[in-house]
Amino acid sequence: MSLPPHHASAGRFRNPWPVASGDDALRSRIWRVAFEWVFGRHPPDPSPDELERSEPDPARPRVAEGGDPRITWVGHATSLIQLPGLNLLTDPVWSDRCSPVGLGGPKRFSAPGMELDGLPPIDAVLLSHDHYDHLDKPTVRTLRDRFPDAVWLTPLGYRAWFGSLGVEAVEERDWWQSGMLPGGRFEAVSVPARHWTRRRPGATNLRLWCGWVIRPAEQGAGPRVYFAGDSGYCPAFEEIGRRLGPFDVSLIPIGAYEPRWFMAPWHVSPEEAVQAYLDAGGRGAFVGIHWGTWRLTFEAPLEPPGRARAAWVAAGLPSRDLYIPRHGETIRFA
Ligand code: ZN
Ligand code: ZN
Repeated sequence: MSLPPHHASAGRFRNPWPVASGDDALRSRIWRVAFEWVFGRHPPDPSPDELERSEPDPARPRVAEGGDPRITWVGHATSLIQLPGLNLLTDPVWSDRCSPVGLGGPKRFSAPGMELDGLPPIDAVLLSHDHYDHLDKPTVRTLRDRFPDAVWLTPLGYRAWFGSLGVEAVEERDWWQSGMLPGGRFEAVSVPARHWTRRRPGATNLRLWCGWVIRPAEQGAGPRVYFAGDSGYCPAFEEIGRRLGPFDVSLIPIGAYEPRWFMAPWHVSPEEAVQAYLDAGGRGAFVGIHWGTWRLTFEAPLEPPGRARAAWVAAGLPSRDLYIPRHGETIRFA
């Protein structure tokens, strides 16, 4: 039996779309990035007062039947998505540092927009991949204790990692596989992205990566939300829109894209993020995430919103549909 194109041999995964550079070119580029980083070509962190914040206003305990969906941006890829009767978290990270060791690695320059203590009850958590800015052990432990009934939806390859933390309610999904969410009104579909995984040396692409589409189990019976995870620009966006769209809300990363010669395969630029939204159907709200929290790459940390806005205007899209949230901001979608 032949494997799906994103399954490689020996249990690894791969991107089924061509990447401009080969592995060797990539390795030499990694060294160049390390060199540039060490010699200080990266821009400094912004000061905390450069980022405006909002007081979160989530529905408590949940959005009522027939109520408007709400999304509260905690920071980076962490959002609280509230649909009627259902509270979801994406890629929850509340730690200060996103790295294997608590004392090193990028340090948060903006506090989470919402305290973990302030969360309403969480029914399910959607994980896109295993990078440290998306999957954080201390946060998983806290959520496990606070919301023992929550279901964790992950791509393939995460059950053992969660099991070692005592989290057993893990449902792994291959791309295009769907599963019912708690309450039975919505389902979550794992969708492709062009990215990669690794949490320790040698473990490259042993776990899958993905985005998620949340849609009503019954056609037309509620909003459709697309959470893109981390992805380079690729044909997946068009296919996701064609198979599962149109979406009422799309959460798309707009940060961590410079230098392009290194990051383009794995992270969309703000302009590509807008193009991805258009490819996926070009309807509903665009919520720009994955910026303003850790300095992971070479662009100025506060550059992504301006470039995303300019690309949005250049594409002739209506300003009412563009949301670049503040940390802690709750967006209510009518
Ligand atoms: Zn990543
Ligand atoms: Zn990321």
